[in-house]
Amino acid sequence: MANETSATGPGRSSVEEIIRKRLADERARLEQELEVALPPVQHFERPVERGFTRAEREHTTVLFGGLTWKHEQLITGALSGLGYKVEPLAVPDVKAFQLGKEYGNNGQCNPTYFTVGNLVQHLQKLEEQGLDRQSIIDDYVFITAGACGPCRFGMYEAEYRLALRNSGFDGFRVMLFQQSGGLSQSEAGAGLELNVDFFLAILNAMNMGDLVNDVGYQTRPFEVEEGATDAAMTEAMDTLEEIFRTKRTFQLEGKMGGFVKRLPKVGGTAEFVGKFADQTFGSDYIDAFRDLGARLDEVDLDRTRVKPIVKITGEFWAQTTEGDGNFNMFRFLEREGAQVIVEPIGTWIMYMIHQAKQMNLDRAGVTEDEAMPSAWRIDKRMAVEWAARKKNAKLSVAEAIFKREWNRLREALGGVPHELTDQYELQRIGHPMYNSRAGGGEGHLEVAKNIYYSNKGLCHMVLSLKPFGCMPSTQSDGVQSAVVNQYKDMIYLPVETSGEGEINAHSRVQMALGEAKVKAKQEIERIQELTGISLEEARAYADEHPELKRPLYKVPHYKGVIGTAANFLMHIAELEGRAVAPVERQPAMAGAAG
Ligand code: SF4
Repeated sequence: MANETSATGPGRSSVEEIIRKRLADERARLEQELEVALPPVQHFERPVERGFTRAEREHTTVLFGGLTWKHEQLITGALSGLGYKVEPLAVPDVKAFQLGKEYGNNGQCNPTYFTVGNLVQHLQKLEEQGLDRQSIIDDYVFITAGACGPCRFGMYEAEYRLALRNSGFDGFRVMLFQQSGGLSQSEAGAGLELNVDFFLAILNAMNMGDLVNDVGYQTRPFEVEEGATDAAMTEAMDTLEEIFRTKRTFQLEGKMGGFVKRLPKVGGTAEFVGKFADQTFGSDYIDAFRDLGARLDEVDLDRTRVKPIVKITGEFWAQTTEGDGNFNMFRFLEREGAQVIVEPIGTWIMYMIHQAKQMNLDRAGVTEDEAMPSAWRIDKRMAVEWAARKKNAKLSVAEAIFKREWNRLREALGGVPHELTDQYELQRIGHPMYNSRAGGGEGHLEVAKNIYYSNKGLCHMVLSLKPFGCMPSTQSDGVQSAVVNQYKDMIYLPVETSGEGEINAHSRVQMALGEAKVKAKQEIERIQELTGISLEEARAYADEHPELKRPLYKVPHYKGVIGTAANFLMHIAELEGRAVAPVERQPAMAGAAG
């Protein structure tokens, strides 16, 4: 056995014993030699926290936040539908940042200050509204995703606790679900049941939030009537939230259902399979999403407006939030005349699955208890390999299901939202510049996306939003200078986000955007010449064919053509049967809309 001394030498535990003893002896020798006595080591231990029990659910409000209002509204509906009292936090603002700095540790990354301070700010507001502190501590819990790092994300939980203690809310409960913990992290009798229903509800809400968000950013810059997109979205999202609230999850019901449920071993699996079948073949969400699309489709568009497309990348939170946390960058870009491509949370989910698969293969035979068998034990080596492949087969199924669900929803919006970017392609592109095994933050994604979107003609400029104090972003910053050196035509701007310095950041973006505008202008001139269609003629054509003004009308993406107006002209040329060389439609490509 590995842990015992064998004929070939000491086992693992004996070796560790020897190391420990040698360390202690050496420490004692040094202490004596230097005449110092080192104080006993005090390791940090996670405080024991009061639980959130099933019995408390009726009178306890679950707080959460950190995404866009669209994601949060749908998650609110989804969790309410599962029987929870839910309240999303407001989008973090500068005041939240200041509270995070005041009550938390110094030297954290920027999203920590914003998100931690935002929770404190929310609790303080509850107090201002008349709730006493003890009631807040007793009747509210905060839920958030957790991870073991390797960047500061692993310390968020401790930061929340510290800031809560320092701000006088000691004992306030922070509940974590592990972002890589799978679909069932539930404990019996827990107030928050982290089970299949919970995660499917959250995934559906996040996917729909992503897709609506995407359509919104494709629509708003071209809306004929200012504010029409936001009005349509607000109305449609209210309806969708209601669908989530009233959606019943699949349960084995009735006498037969109860009987099957109680069958040892089989019962749980049958219900699990039923839930997945309901998810993958059911049409409740798809139908609701089609209705939402119909409402968005009422907005009138003028696609002949020439706008540079700016792809947003960067750190997960900084590239997602729609507030002070990234200097309100998306609205600023739109005001400055740009079209923005935001990053869906779906990319992150696919990235995590992809990395887990990669890790399984890399770690085959090197896990803690299992050394790789000798080269001549082909049978044992094959067994190790098989075990890794089996684990990966499950992840591949998860990957396929997630992608299928995403595409079903995407199709319900006429295929207009961007496709999920292929993780294998991102790895292939990014790995030569940034080792794809290096975890933390966005890992190799930031570098890979920059090359992908610029090289495939999907944007005129890439804007990377990197939080102040972000460790992985600092690393990729170094790599990006090599990337920009290699791809000379790329317009790439990294902006460090913080609680201050908005004017400076906006002015840097304005400068880079100036270059992107020139690129877009040159492109439209080339396309007008190529197609023989002017922008005025295209506008007149759209007036005669009003379906071309609909947000869910899918304008194809043509090879080498980036801008919306430029692709629109190419499309009209194709509809009119004009001989334009080359009128080549880009085959369906991830990251491309249409
Ligand atoms: S990726 Fe960067 S900003 Fe995000 S949690 Fe990690 S260190 Fe902080």
